[in-house]
Amino acid sequence: MKNNLVVFLDRDGTINPDPGYISSLADYTFYEDTLDALSLLSKYSYKYVIITNQSGIARGYFSESDLQKIHDYIKMEFKEAGISLLDIYYCPHHPDDKCKCRKPGIEFFIQASIKHSIDLKKCYIIGDTLMDMEAGRDLGLKLILVRTGKGEKTKLEINNQDGQIDFVGYNLMDCIKYIIKQENLQ
Ligand SMILES: [Zn+2]
Repeated sequence: MKNNLVVFLDRDGTINPDPGYISSLADYTFYEDTLDALSLLSKYSYKYVIITNQSGIARGYFSESDLQKIHDYIKMEFKEAGISLLDIYYCPHHPDDKCKCRKPGIEFFIQASIKHSIDLKKCYIIGDTLMDMEAGRDLGLKLILVRTGKGEKTKLEINNQDGQIDFVGYNLMDCIKYIIKQENLQ
């Protein structure tokens, strides 16, 4: 029975500022509204999966253990805020590697849907890049573009195509409130 409702989250530019290749926990910080926003939806049995491209590993900018420290921190902070995070998936490869796990590749989304019994058709993706929107579109997810990170630039790129985005939010709180309204949760 595929019954888990999930919001797939991008990491850099979506839940935290994206200065480019965050290489250590000391440089990592959430956006001000991230934990408050995500915990709002946790009350309604939604869970989260983070899927992130981290080519900084292949480029030699940081190690998998540096990344693990950041992800352990994210897991701890989410837990303290009562936010149910099912998994964090990261692609360590270089774009030139042509791997299947780097977004817009859908490999991690498929793995997550099997491992966690996720009904993809009922799920959302929130991200700031075209790669996020393309992966989500290929999977039939509901697409939310956030205008933080690269989102403003992505919005302009999307305006020049005829791609359909379900919602464009100013920040994560805006996006989460859209889901609550859309799903009649209040
Ligand atoms: Zn990969």
